[in-house]
Amino acid sequence: MLNIPYGRQHISQDDVEAVVKTLQAAYLTQGPTVQAFEEAFAQYVDARYAVAVTNGTAALHLCALALGVEPGTKVITTPITFAASANCIRYCGGQVVFADVEPNTALLDIEKVRLLLESHPKGTFSGIIPVDFAGQAVDLASFRALADEYDLWIIEDACHAPGGYFTDGKGMKQRCGNGQFADAAIFSFHPVKHIACGEGGMITTNDREIYEKLLLLRTHGITKDPTQLQENHGGWYYEMQELGFNYRISDINCALGLSQMNRAHARLAKRQAIAKVYDQAFMDTPIRPLTQPLDGGHAYHLYVIQTQERKLLYDQLRAQGVYAQVHYIPVHLQPYYQRLGWRKGDLPVAEEYYEQCLSLPMYPELTLAEQLQVIELTKSSILCEH
Ligand SMILES: *Cc1c(COP(=O)(O)O)cnc(C)c1O
Repeated sequence: MLNIPYGRQHISQDDVEAVVKTLQAAYLTQGPTVQAFEEAFAQYVDARYAVAVTNGTAALHLCALALGVEPGTKVITTPITFAASANCIRYCGGQVVFADVEPNTALLDIEKVRLLLESHPKGTFSGIIPVDFAGQAVDLASFRALADEYDLWIIEDACHAPGGYFTDGKGMKQRCGNGQFADAAIFSFHPVKHIACGEGGMITTNDREIYEKLLLLRTHGITKDPTQLQENHGGWYYEMQELGFNYRISDINCALGLSQMNRAHARLAKRQAIAKVYDQAFMDTPIRPLTQPLDGGHAYHLYVIQTQERKLLYDQLRAQGVYAQVHYIPVHLQPYYQRLGWRKGDLPVAEEYYEQCLSLPMYPELTLAEQLQVIELTKSSILCEH
């Protein structure tokens, strides 16, 4: 039987040696490797500053805190994402307002966001969290223009899209997380994402003030920086100036992440090549991939198809050892958010998308032979039903 997951990490001998070297070095946590990883990652996504943290969820939480989310703050996000994109607002006591998605990309629909903003008094909402779902880069230039009209901040959840980009109106490639449009962007280094740390996360921003706030909040709100202290009792002295957290990532995790960065470009290209093979195979069939951008900026964390026969296809693939997955169950339908008042029917496009979506295997080490088997099984399963 086959054994093909929807995503999988890859650890090279170089990765192993990099981690072992860190184990034998002077620092296990918050040493030079954290900073080296931050610098390499900032360069990869074209951002000015990067702050590495324990995981993507912690990255979201710190961004929400740094942007001032507090009880009563209303923030707009998409239901087609991992729950953490919304939960970060709840951690700060804020209110999550879901807006519906576009049918062909399952990305947050800017027109639905605009309607929401227009139908409430100015000042009702504080921010927007768009998600580069599946690796498709959100058109953040358009979101920035809308956000500026209403004085909103933007956190880009770019967990699916390191290396992805959109092309702006001037024909410039704008990398996900480059900080040109969003106030901050976040990434995850969970093994199923593009770059693995074990557990890990990153925030990128071009805003110096947000950057400094994030550094403070990452480590209990404590500073020893003499220029920041209110008093100074001597060399031992530090001050806890904010209610921060311990969201520090270790040098061990960062050594793995940094080593993986060496293969990031090549592995992204491999994901894009795999997507091309799927695209070709499903042309002229009832199997509908999400709309593909023509500019090559899709980072393909996921390769999502839509089909009326989703449940059947999922079960039949699974019976053959192909572990496709559903991304995502709309977040507003989770029992926790239903307790906060969200109901089935509130976001019909997202709900219909959920009934039909399936993520097929997508990771750089997927061989062509394996992929052709997945395609064959998918086609025979769906086409037989028609
Ligand atoms: C994975 C993921 C997160 C959370 O990242 P963790 O590192 O698992 O905490 C947040 N948002 C999206 C869209 C994700 O895919």
